[in-house]
Amino acid sequence: MGIRDNLEAHLEHLKSTTQGEHNFHQAVDELFDDVISYVEQNESEYNDQVINRMLYPDRVINFSVAWVDDEGGLQVNQGWRVQFNNAIGPYKGGLRLHPDVSLDDFKFLGFEQTFKDALTGLPMGGGKGGSDFNPKGRSNPEIRRFCQAFMTELSRYIGPDQDIPAGDIGVGGRELGYMFGHYKQLTGKFHGALTGKGPSFGGSCIRTEATGYGTVYFLEQVLIDQDDELKGKRCALSGAGNVSLYCSQKLIEKEAVVLTLSDSQGVLRSEEGFTQEQITDLIELKETNHGALKDYKDTLSDTSGLKYTEGGDVWDGEYDIAIPSATQNEVDEAEAKAIIKAGAKIMCQAANMPCTKAAVEAFKSSDVQNLPSKAVNAGGVAVSGLERAQNAMGMSWTSEKVDDELKSIMKNIVKACQDNGKLEGGKVDYSRGANIAGFKRVYKAMAAYYG
Ligand code: NDP
Repeated sequence: MGIRDNLEAHLEHLKSTTQGEHNFHQAVDELFDDVISYVEQNESEYNDQVINRMLYPDRVINFSVAWVDDEGGLQVNQGWRVQFNNAIGPYKGGLRLHPDVSLDDFKFLGFEQTFKDALTGLPMGGGKGGSDFNPKGRSNPEIRRFCQAFMTELSRYIGPDQDIPAGDIGVGGRELGYMFGHYKQLTGKFHGALTGKGPSFGGSCIRTEATGYGTVYFLEQVLIDQDDELKGKRCALSGAGNVSLYCSQKLIEKEAVVLTLSDSQGVLRSEEGFTQEQITDLIELKETNHGALKDYKDTLSDTSGLKYTEGGDVWDGEYDIAIPSATQNEVDEAEAKAIIKAGAKIMCQAANMPCTKAAVEAFKSSDVQNLPSKAVNAGGVAVSGLERAQNAMGMSWTSEKVDDELKSIMKNIVKACQDNGKLEGGKVDYSRGANIAGFKRVYKAMAAYYG
């Protein structure tokens, strides 16, 4: 049996022992399709048993979160932290609050995070966590009580050299403030156990913007390397949260045209392109009011050119670049076909694993270039890594310094994808490049421990 057979047997065993974990299996398949063919060509350098170890999380922590609602009732939610792999540094990855989450989601996200964090070149392992708590419709005191109860449990498992959570869907500056304040109270320690903190209490400049800005830096570098530019490119974005709004802000700064934003209820469209003022208003509304696009659309200081559609399909229309920035598997095969029909030349995955397997296949058989999430959206965790470094040094860097570091990290990730994803004829498969570059870095450390 060759290494391919051994790895396929390991994969089969994993799937038989984790039945029903479809998102996790999808993430593993996406990475291992490339890794297996690469390892097969370099068989003497790799041990399949060490690779097999990479498929299993180090630890899955599950706890109950009991908190009191505004009526005095006792509510209970489930909390998770998946500490997937700390081969190259302490576990690092966000916390998600969404009613639909399950252990499957946190395993897929923790697995992805391991290789994404490796791509940044910083010493960070991979983890992910959160809860099935639904923040929508909850009052501010309810959110605070939930976050504090969540941290009461989570605090036993995290720390600056152990596991350093950050934000994700449903967890922004407000929630991280409540969590860090409680962590500090519980442990008596003011140190970098969380990132994404407010700048007045140890947070890094640019962390809030980093995932969106990093996405644009990545995209811009890919275009430059193809003798092209962002200026004038028509972009369709989904989502109306942290990633999509800061991505829009940077796109507009680069003179690209942002045509759409969306949330779970509808699509907000501007045929001429959103203005910087409209995006700034949306960011402010999102941070202070935590509502939906349909509540915002009439309250912007400038509503000219905007059209809101209840439901609606964000991928309708004509554009050059599709940037899904909402959630996993939001682009299925039919939507991939709509994106191809729209004339898009680039699928820029800003959300984590936003395309189903069938959608990825559809892009592969078209001329749409697929830029993978683990590389595209690594800017967020990269600046989290820089926040951790600043906390450890007891220093606070300027926005300019952090932004320069972010640009340089994103440029290095583009280069790593190109070096590892070059195809015959000079074209680059960025997805393969990201998978192999991330894998090689994690494997090297794991081989030192187990090889
Ligand atoms: P936010 O919570 O700030 O925003 C998410 C946006 O996506 C909201 O507009 C939300 O709409 C929409 N959305 C979420 N779930 C769904 C769904 N099931 N169907 C339709 N719309 C949905 O999250 P972020 O912007 O932080 O995260 C977006 C994506 O980027 C996620 O995949 C996340 O994992 C990834 N990411 C985030 C990073 C970060 O630093 N924040 C770092 C790296 C990746 P609604 O409010 O109506 O639910």
